[in-house]
Amino acid sequence: MEYVSTRNKERKVSAAYAIANGIAPDGGLYCPTAFPKLTHEDWKQLAAADYKGRAALILGKFLTDFTAEELAGYTAKAYADEKFGGADTAPLVKLADGKHMLELWHGPTCAFKDMALQILPHLLTASLKKTGETRTACILVATSGDTGKAALDGFADVAGTKIMVYYPENGVSPMQKLQMTTQAGKNVEVVAIRGNFDDAQSAVKRIFTDEETRARLDRDGLMLSSANSINWGRLAPQIAYYVSAYCDMLASGAVKHGEKINVCVPTGNFGNILAAYIAKQMGLPVNKFICASNRNNVLTDFFKKGGKYDKNRDFYTTASPSMDILISSNLERLLFFASGYNDKLVAELMDKLNAGGSYEVAQDVFAGIQADFDAGCCDDAQTAETIKALWEKEHYLSDTHTAVAVRVYEEYRARTGDETPTVIASTASPFKFCRSVIEALGGKLDKDDVTQLDVLTGLTGVAAPAPLAALAGKTPRFDRVVDKADILSTVGLLKDL
Ligand SMILES: *Cc1c(COP(=O)(O)O)cnc(C)c1O
Repeated sequence: MEYVSTRNKERKVSAAYAIANGIAPDGGLYCPTAFPKLTHEDWKQLAAADYKGRAALILGKFLTDFTAEELAGYTAKAYADEKFGGADTAPLVKLADGKHMLELWHGPTCAFKDMALQILPHLLTASLKKTGETRTACILVATSGDTGKAALDGFADVAGTKIMVYYPENGVSPMQKLQMTTQAGKNVEVVAIRGNFDDAQSAVKRIFTDEETRARLDRDGLMLSSANSINWGRLAPQIAYYVSAYCDMLASGAVKHGEKINVCVPTGNFGNILAAYIAKQMGLPVNKFICASNRNNVLTDFFKKGGKYDKNRDFYTTASPSMDILISSNLERLLFFASGYNDKLVAELMDKLNAGGSYEVAQDVFAGIQADFDAGCCDDAQTAETIKALWEKEHYLSDTHTAVAVRVYEEYRARTGDETPTVIASTASPFKFCRSVIEALGGKLDKDDVTQLDVLTGLTGVAAPAPLAALAGKTPRFDRVVDKADILSTVGLLKDL
């Protein structure tokens, strides 16, 4: 399997090269040049395997420069039972009205990012070896809250790597902030920026394409890599859980072989939903992808307004901070696939996005996208209503991001009458967003409690996940704050980690 940049498909690289480097030198994102298909034999093996086996099989289809033994070794370590609270790595919980909640937050940092970031360090360090790389990999991460902690947890004290995380100072939940600033490890650095996630992500992308910075790092024996979903090594592991969910639905009788499902995903950078789209290209029977956004509804407009993407709008800080994003990076990959790998077109659209903040996709390309995707959005009040209704009617405790998806799904079902069983990505533990969830349930916050974990437990009787409970009383290690204009200057810190 070969990989090319979305902006230049002339130069082909291996999976290991794509993972080690994170982003192409032209600023494009690496993509496979074809979609492997799941055979009858594959489905039989998938059905019989546990999550670790399923993930290894799916990864093997894309990472052809890794052996089956290597991949099985990584998935066994990454998804070890003691890290995911048992053998059911990604449980599927059936609720009313066709909702199947795919819980992706049972890992060590309690958000779906663990599904990829527990295995990425294994993939990345092996990729460095396979490509003959001797420099230390410096992983730069822009985070809207959850990627940062998951990447820190995955890469802390991993030999041959250093990691630096940038998060928006006022754009993450108190729990997310505490998780990041208390991170242990000799090779980690956490920086708050005065700006939002888009500022952080754009700065990181600029650093990647800045020749002078790269040359300076190279002299110090350092190279750059990424743990954001711009890295193919982040996306590939995410494909597995959609296939695994379908296997679980086959086993429970929720669907028959070949019967279609919908997939509804609370979306920010468009990585998670794109992984589901790729699963469909491999043969997963999907009717519609439902793209759910919060008040930052740039994607809803894109899908509903004929393929016009326009980030020139107000940015809102919401109760679902991990989706407070106006530049959804992985949409670039969808455009590449849907246009039949048209690198010139993608390069042109991304130039327009960089220059003027907007672009419009040609109607023939958009028609294909529209056939696959539906979309919707909701505000914080509607999110809170949904959390309350889910708890009172179905005794299901949902975080703010997942609630956005549920709300948008219910609106979709009422509008279209489509009763196809639907997998809804449940992306974080409600205990990461205690304040919003407690307020939604009509509870009272405890003034002296930073984490509010006990308040939410008192209100619902649901126990907080152990890794979050363990944070109580920990002292933050990192307090650096920089202006968004000064992000580039912080790269110098990497040398001394
Ligand atoms: C990252 C995140 C999202 C958005 O996922 P994307 O892959 O960026 O679209 C949604 N919910 C939670 C809880 C997240 O951490």
